[in-house]
Amino acid sequence: MELDKMDENDWKYHGEGNKSLVVSHLQVCCRLIFLRLSSQTAEQAFRHILNMVDYSKYVMKPLLGEKYVHSGEVVKLPLDFVRQLSLKVQQERPELRCDKVMDTFSGCGLCLPNLTQLPLYHLRDHRPPICVEIKPKCGFLPFSRHITKECKRKVCRFCMHQHYKLANGKWKRLSRYCPLNLFSGSKQRMYVALKNLLEEPQNNLKIFKGGELIFSCKDDAKQQPELNDLIQHLRPYFPHSNGIYNGQQPGKAVLNEFIQVICSALLSGGDSNRSGEPRKVHLSESRPHCEASPFPRDLLRNGNHGLPKDSVLAKVLQVQMLDNLDIEGIYPLYKRVEQYLEEFPKERNRLQIDGPYNESFMDTVKNCPTEDDGSVEYAVGKVHQYRVAMTVCVCSLKSPLNLEKTRFTYSISILDLDPKPYEGIPHQYKLDTKIVNYYLRSMQAPP
Ligand code: ATP
Ligand code: MG
Ligand code: ZN
Ligand code: MG
Repeated sequence: MELDKMDENDWKYHGEGNKSLVVSHLQVCCRLIFLRLSSQTAEQAFRHILNMVDYSKYVMKPLLGEKYVHSGEVVKLPLDFVRQLSLKVQQERPELRCDKVMDTFSGCGLCLPNLTQLPLYHLRDHRPPICVEIKPKCGFLPFSRHITKECKRKVCRFCMHQHYKLANGKWKRLSRYCPLNLFSGSKQRMYVALKNLLEEPQNNLKIFKGGELIFSCKDDAKQQPELNDLIQHLRPYFPHSNGIYNGQQPGKAVLNEFIQVICSALLSGGDSNRSGEPRKVHLSESRPHCEASPFPRDLLRNGNHGLPKDSVLAKVLQVQMLDNLDIEGIYPLYKRVEQYLEEFPKERNRLQIDGPYNESFMDTVKNCPTEDDGSVEYAVGKVHQYRVAMTVCVCSLKSPLNLEKTRFTYSISILDLDPKPYEGIPHQYKLDTKIVNYYLRSMQAPP
């Protein structure tokens, strides 16, 4: 990127989340972090992004694997360029996101490879790659002994949260997607999970073609996403599904094949240049099935459970499971840390509460003792682990697929791996209580 020759007309709006807006230009993406405080200085903005890069480099990469994580680098963009860009993208932003304000003051951004494109794609193929982005959320049932409500051991957080979100107007329809199905390693259950995502993508599924968003939740939450439009887009990629289709509707056959392709990519070792029968791991110590997502019993029993050890899903689940105390076990430890910091405020730096996220932070995460010895070190270690697990509970998997006639190629990345704030823990604790209580009430008295 030549920073002195930046022209906003080269850049396209690519997408946004709660924290940032992303623009793309060919093989490059730039993530522009939203303004957090109106009083934020350029120096603070720069440090904040640098912290994100370090966290990705020193914490996420070692945990999730080199090949899945792209840390990017901080860039200082010309202010004129950022201002023009913000005007240009404003009309493309979804209305429900417009309460977030772009930072047009600091000029700081995070430069990343454009993960919607296959590396070297332009050299080998003529058709634009289809790219699937999934935000899978937490894939296991908590098994901590600190849990006070039995239902948390039976129904997953995502499924409980759906009811709460519906009641609060966040979404107009329930999603039937259950992360436990996606992370099950059973082809049938994964198939159901992906089908449920296609039926109701909310913010858990986005599909791009040649870098353009072609399928996601509609801005107006009342509108159904257009599955038929998606099928039209996909048809040319699955030509043999169009003619013969063993009694299925042709559109359905295309979707079926598409789902199979996504499944294989998610179960593979991250890219298509590997072969051999993968080794399975069984990460789920607790009940691997969520009671909110009914599944025929026989399907649950037979089926190749367990995820291939190298698969992106296994990596993600492994890190999510660092949260082995649940927020109910973490909150008292957070309070222990708070009490300690009240007495010894200067210790905040040594304990790396707000970073820096470096090798020493990572050591604390890795070497935290398993038994509580009552120390503040134990509490800090567990709190760090919890925050790391939370990052991976809200990350996204992005996989451009190059669907050729004979074989398909793909490359999977994990994105949106930002540190979750220490200060967020009391909020997480309250939210958990609200979600669980609301779920229990709504199950007692169905509306
Ligand atoms: P969230 O609210 O989910 O936490 P966020 O604000 O932290 O989101 P990201 O998820 O990192 O932001 O980015 C927003 C969107 O931009 C992503 O969903 C993805 O579609 C797109 N995006 C981000 N980084 C890249 C990249 N390197 N290549 C391609 N697309 C990207
Ligand atoms: Mg995101
Ligand atoms: Zn569930
Ligand atoms: Mg994020």
